[in-house]
Amino acid sequence: MNNYYDYAASTPVSDAVFKKMFPWLNESFANPSAAHVEGIKASDAIQEAREVIADEIGAMPSEIIFTSGASEANNLAIKGVAFQFLNEKCHIITSSIEHKCVLNTCDFLEKLGFEVTYIQPNRDGLISPNEVKKAIQENTKLISIHHVNNELGTIQPISEFGEIAIEHGILFHTDAAQSFCKLNIDVDDMDIDFLSLSGHKIYGPKGIGALYVRDARDSELVPLIHGGGQELGLRGGTSPTPLIIGLAAAVQYFPENTADSVEVFQDKLFQYSCVRNGGNEVLPTILNITFSSLEDVKKFKVDNEWLISQGSACNAMSNVASHVLSNIGLSEEEARLTYRISLPPFRLIID
Ligand SMILES: *Cc1c(COP(=O)(O)O)cnc(C)c1O
Repeated sequence: MNNYYDYAASTPVSDAVFKKMFPWLNESFANPSAAHVEGIKASDAIQEAREVIADEIGAMPSEIIFTSGASEANNLAIKGVAFQFLNEKCHIITSSIEHKCVLNTCDFLEKLGFEVTYIQPNRDGLISPNEVKKAIQENTKLISIHHVNNELGTIQPISEFGEIAIEHGILFHTDAAQSFCKLNIDVDDMDIDFLSLSGHKIYGPKGIGALYVRDARDSELVPLIHGGGQELGLRGGTSPTPLIIGLAAAVQYFPENTADSVEVFQDKLFQYSCVRNGGNEVLPTILNITFSSLEDVKKFKVDNEWLISQGSACNAMSNVASHVLSNIGLSEEEARLTYRISLPPFRLIID
C-alpha cells in the first residue's frame, strides 16, 4: 500500500515486531499465569515487556496495566475514577475534541448523574490551561485531556494541566495514543496520574494497549473487567503474550526517522489552494488540510490517489462533520473540504 497516508488511523505491524511476536503465537503458548516452567517463561517475557513500556514514559513496570487498546485504557481511567464516587457522584473536566471513546464515556457518566465540563479549544485546537483551571469545582476528581489530537495533530500543554491538577488535588489522565513514542513523555515531570497508549499507532499489533496507573498497587481505581486477578486485579483476562511482546517490540524498534520526508509532502500539498489547521504546536506527520474549493479537492484527488481520511476513521462511518472540526470553528462547508493526511510516524527529538 504505497498510497496509504492514514497512519493516524492505524499503522502496519513492522517486520521486526512481527518476528518477535511469532514464537509466542504457537511455540510458546502457555498461560502466563501457570506455575509450570512454560508459564513462567511467558510471564517473565511479559515482565520484560512491561519494563520496556514503563521506561519509555519514566514509569515503574508495576504501573503498566495492559488493556485491549487505548479505548479500553481511556474507559478504565475515567470510569475507574468515577465509579469510586457512584453514590455522591463527582465532576470531571475534559475537552470537546477528545477521541470519541472519551466523549462517549463521559456522556454515559452524565446519564448516570455525573457532571462533566467540556473545554472548548481555540481555532488551532489548543486547550487553554486557564480554562481548565476556571472549570474546577469543589467536587472535581479528574481532568482528562489528550496529548496529541488525532485529527489535527495539535500538541496540548499537558504538563500545565498536570500542574493544575496536582495543585488542586485532582487526578490527571491523558490519552497519549497519538503521542506515545513520538514525543518525549515523563509521567513524573508532567504530573500524569493515568496515561493511555495503543499498539497499532506505533507499528505494533491491534488489540493491545496499556494504561499507566500511578502507584497501581495502591490505586483505588475500580476495574471494568473483573477476572482472575491479572494486572493487579485492575484488568481480568488471560494476558495476551504475543500482543504484549509485540507492543514492547514496537517501542524498541520505533523509528527515529521514516522514508517519507515531511517537507516534501508539505511542498506538494501547498501546490493546491489550501490551509493547514492545528496551529504551530503540531505533530509534523499529521496534516489537516482545508482546501479552498471543491475544484481544488478534485484536482488534488486526481493527482494523488491517496488513502486518506476526512476527519478521522471513527467519524467516517457517520455523515456528520467531525466534532473536532466543528469545535475549532469550521463551517459544515469547510469541514467537507477538509482532509487528514497522516504520514508514517517517527520519534521527534524536541528539547
Ligand atoms: C486510535 C486512538 C484511540 C483508540 O485506540 P485503540 O487502541 O484503537 O482503542 C484513542 N485515542 C486516540 C487519540 C487515538 O488516536
